[in-house]
Amino acid sequence: MFPTDMNTFKNKNLNSLKLEKLNWSSIQNEMKNRLGLEIYESWLKKISFIDEFNNYILLSVPTRFIRDWITSRYLDQILQTVRNYKKEIIRIEFKIIEQDVKNDKTNIDNYELENKENVSFIKNSYLQYNRIDPNRRFDNFITGISNKLAYEASLKVSENISHYNPLYIYGGVGLGKTHLLNSIGLELKKKNKVMFISAERFMYQFVKSIKANDMVKFKEYFRNTDILLIDDIQFMNGKEAMQEEFFHTFNALLDKGSQIIVSADRAPNKLLRIQERIKSRFSGGLVVDIQKPDLELRRKIIQNKTEELNVLYFGQIKISEEIQEFISKEITNSIREIVGAVNRVVSFSRIYNKVPNLAETKVILKDLLNLSENKVTIDLIQTLVCKFFKISKNEMLSSRRSRYLVRPRQTAIYLTKILTSKSLPEIGREFSNRDHTTIIHSVKTIEKLKEKDPEMVDNINNLKNQILYNNSQNEI
Ligand code: ADP
Ligand code: MG
Repeated sequence: MFPTDMNTFKNKNLNSLKLEKLNWSSIQNEMKNRLGLEIYESWLKKISFIDEFNNYILLSVPTRFIRDWITSRYLDQILQTVRNYKKEIIRIEFKIIEQDVKNDKTNIDNYELENKENVSFIKNSYLQYNRIDPNRRFDNFITGISNKLAYEASLKVSENISHYNPLYIYGGVGLGKTHLLNSIGLELKKKNKVMFISAERFMYQFVKSIKANDMVKFKEYFRNTDILLIDDIQFMNGKEAMQEEFFHTFNALLDKGSQIIVSADRAPNKLLRIQERIKSRFSGGLVVDIQKPDLELRRKIIQNKTEELNVLYFGQIKISEEIQEFISKEITNSIREIVGAVNRVVSFSRIYNKVPNLAETKVILKDLLNLSENKVTIDLIQTLVCKFFKISKNEMLSSRRSRYLVRPRQTAIYLTKILTSKSLPEIGREFSNRDHTTIIHSVKTIEKLKEKDPEMVDNINNLKNQILYNNSQNEI
């Protein structure tokens, strides 16, 4: 870092540096164009410029949350924009300077109560618990057979309150439940008072209110809303007092025509330790589920996500068809993981400035893949072992007994034994019809060698890693 600083310094004289003060409002304008009005209005507008230094600028934001949000999502683009104006800037620092919350319209949204005392209570909790994510919308929710019903029901509710009441959406982890609830919230908050809270938060708020002897406010708070979105209701299990309160809130809201939307990881009748009457209330509305995405939807999500990132990164993102196909075939359980995989591949490309190949992709996504043993073929083992010992496959499979061939052959046999479920005769057949006693002998020899030869242990581990994850050491 130091040498760059010095060079910059040598190249420019101090005066010219001082003269070229950053024009923050032009930068903000450019960010508005780049990232879109919505992101700008929701997040970037809140950034104020404090000062610039030799190679960094100091900005301020009103809360830690906004800082974290901005740094995790938009920092790269902000820095790029700034650097268009001033190449010397290599980093951005944020300071948190709290503003008067009352003036911060977007945080309060459209939720106001008359009682002065209540206001701060509500504002505080509103800030903490009612974060509707502007990035999870209907228009970026991709549909397929598995989620179409849930999507359509959500859309319907957003257009026509009380149409299906309550709406109960359930499905496994990472399949888009929160995304849908969030989308409903975003739509409805344009005209209604919306409360979006996870069951865990509801519980926390409940307990806090009891301790503070504030139940009246709690009740008012939740019963004053037009729309109540409760995420992950399964977490309410067993908390009797809270369920009691929830049940009454629920009824009060339904009575006054408020819309309730609930998500859970399972169907109402499968909820554990939740009062029967609550379950039956849930079942009385519309219950829709989200299933695991099929291949077509997985492909669509990968394509869309890649395109979305391309808009952010000026068309520089390239994920080859092969990799897209790989991800869509290997990651099948959760859309969150699919999106995560695309993000990782993109981060890799950006960090290393190259598009990862398939082997690299496997390494990057290692923890998301179930590369199980049954995908390990004898052919793969033989190929990788030959490559490792620099012999040909013909040599490995030949009957020659030169030492430089015997060890690799035994290694391949050993690895086949431990990494596949093939029987000894089967393995023998794949190694030019060797007898199963030869196979046993090879396995025993390597096991013995491993006990006294650390290099052997290293080689085996290295090869194992390559075979299981197609990963050569230091490849990346
Ligand atoms: P859940 O609440 O069911 O665990 P989320 O709603 O948090 O899942 O979804 C996980 C991630 O996957 C989020 O980033 C979400 O935006 C994304 N996602 C889920 N389903 C879709 C979809 N159909 N289209 C686009 N993104 C989706
Ligand atoms: Mg969720």
